[in-house]
Amino acid sequence: MEGDCIFCRIINGEAKADFVYQGENIVAFRDIKPSAPVHILVVPKKHIRSMNDLEEQDAFILKEMLFTAKEIAREQGTDQAGYKLVFNVERGGGQYVFHLHLHILGGWELGKHPRLAGMPV
Ligand code: 5GP
Ligand code: ZN
Repeated sequence: MEGDCIFCRIINGEAKADFVYQGENIVAFRDIKPSAPVHILVVPKKHIRSMNDLEEQDAFILKEMLFTAKEIAREQGTDQAGYKLVFNVERGGGQYVFHLHLHILGGWELGKHPRLAGMPV
């Protein structure tokens, strides 16, 4: 727990969030400022600053995050159309909250992803 970390505060119940999953090691909640129709953050309860700080002993956390993301994508109905999984790493990678998290971005209609604009799909 880091006192000034918003994600630690959410995990401890000190700050509110719209949870879609709460497990022993991992939680997931909706992003407060979504950049996609479905935008969910998968977050380990353990405070790890970024991917750079992930240690071998935390490998199970990464595995759980990825499998949880896959399951949430299915529950949100975005698995077949497709989705993005993103880790922003440190400031140069666009990281803003320094508590490890995996973005699930999806919910676009098939072929309507902004990246594919103007491309034959
Ligand atoms: P980053 O840029 O660090 O990878 O992404 C941090 C994400 O956390 C951003 O998409 C931002 O909108 C989201 N976020 C920041 N503060 C809060 C908050 O208090 N609650 C929720 N639900 N999301 C937050
Ligand atoms: Zn934290």
